[in-house]
Amino acid sequence: MRECFELRDADAGGRIGELTVPRADATVETPALLPVINPNLDTISPRRLAEEFGAEILITNSYIIYGTEDVRERALEEGLHDLLDFPGAIMTDSGSFQLAEYGEIDVTTEEILDFQHRIGSDIATPVDIPTPPDVPRERAADELATTQERLEFAEGVDTGEMLVTAPVQGSTYPDLREDAGRHAAGTDLDVFPVGAVVPLMNDYRYDDMIDAVAGAKRGLGADAPVHLFGAGHPMMFALAVAMGCDLFDSAAYALYARDDRYLTVRGTRHLEDLEYLPCSCPVCTAHSPDDLRALGDERREEELAAHNLHVTFEEIRRIKQAIRAGNLLELVEQRARAHPTMLDGYRTLLDHADQLERSDPVSKGAFFYTSHESARRPEVVRHHRRLERLAVPDALFLTEGRTDGGDAYDESWRVQPPFGPFPRSLSKSYPLTAEVPDRTDRGALAAAADGVARLVEDNPETEFALGHRGWPADVLARVPDRVELIELSGDAE
Ligand SMILES: [Zn+2]
Repeated sequence: MRECFELRDADAGGRIGELTVPRADATVETPALLPVINPNLDTISPRRLAEEFGAEILITNSYIIYGTEDVRERALEEGLHDLLDFPGAIMTDSGSFQLAEYGEIDVTTEEILDFQHRIGSDIATPVDIPTPPDVPRERAADELATTQERLEFAEGVDTGEMLVTAPVQGSTYPDLREDAGRHAAGTDLDVFPVGAVVPLMNDYRYDDMIDAVAGAKRGLGADAPVHLFGAGHPMMFALAVAMGCDLFDSAAYALYARDDRYLTVRGTRHLEDLEYLPCSCPVCTAHSPDDLRALGDERREEELAAHNLHVTFEEIRRIKQAIRAGNLLELVEQRARAHPTMLDGYRTLLDHADQLERSDPVSKGAFFYTSHESARRPEVVRHHRRLERLAVPDALFLTEGRTDGGDAYDESWRVQPPFGPFPRSLSKSYPLTAEVPDRTDRGALAAAADGVARLVEDNPETEFALGHRGWPADVLARVPDRVELIELSGDAE
């Protein structure tokens, strides 16, 4: 276990954790949002972030401080906490982002780590190489090797109580991300940002983002705190948390406000397009869109930034509550409807249902089947896997409804889409207590048929019949031929 991170609760790949930040003498509850503070201009003061928004941690760029002479001198003299006037934990970035944007920076890992230590950063970052998406594999691998050398070097720098991050790169090659994750987890560094995903998010490539994070997570293992570097839009937090991200940094709240953009969990709106403000934060209850439009530039930017932050923190709280209640995936399903590319992200998340299943709790409140994607959730994967461990009689009738028609069989089990067959003794246990719509869909039926097939294949000696309510031919084709099919008429049991 990493000493600085403790897991408290889990749902799918998401978790509530505690990140201990010794140098700040603080414990940060995750998932956490780190507002990005530009030391040269703050739209919302760090003090206000802590007091009004409850920010426990923020992130600022040590490279900008390093490169701005008067700010550098003050940071060295007063320390970062006094300079920014922030009572919580402060994480610093190293200039890697500037490296990605401008091609070079004039500082080494040793210099910038030492500088971060001297200005009183609580969590510091080495200079890694943020390899963009879609580069040739050779370049991604070469740059990853350089990043790994720097992480090994960073391990050797005396940084006292300051935590140090180990960024995970690898571009759009999930196997390189996995190698990078394994290597990073093998160092004694503390926090693990998944790097260079901003270009993916800017292009709405949430599917590729999920694959990158899933790869990194396979290498990092469950006990590593994971930061999704540069992810600041609340629309995608639930999705990223469900894949196992713990920390997010938001510059979006301020950058978007500067362009009159209004964040919502269903996407971004332009202030000029809004006739109503669909939000109950202090900004939106005190103003109409016309009021906001009438404000001077600076005030309007500040008010919009405050709204953007309220929405962002609210979503983090909603996600934490969803993890506690065990309905994080229901929230992800809702968010997936915000944009077709978010739906791609969710469908990609479900490609990793096996991986999510490992951390998903065995029992939760209730499983709500709310779209055909629900049929691919980790709970369904787990039920199918459990089938091989169940004892079956010599002749077994599997039925969606009535038990008659199966008199020739020793026992009858229920079949419920999307799970498939189970002994009646399990019908009160999670997830078989699921709420499923009466008007079921092909995804649920196909998953149930796959469950039947799995049970039949696991028990070659047993004779099976399946009582179904009008399953279509292509769904029945998933059931092995040796199963006797009985079409049921009438309604419920
Ligand atoms: Zn608002």
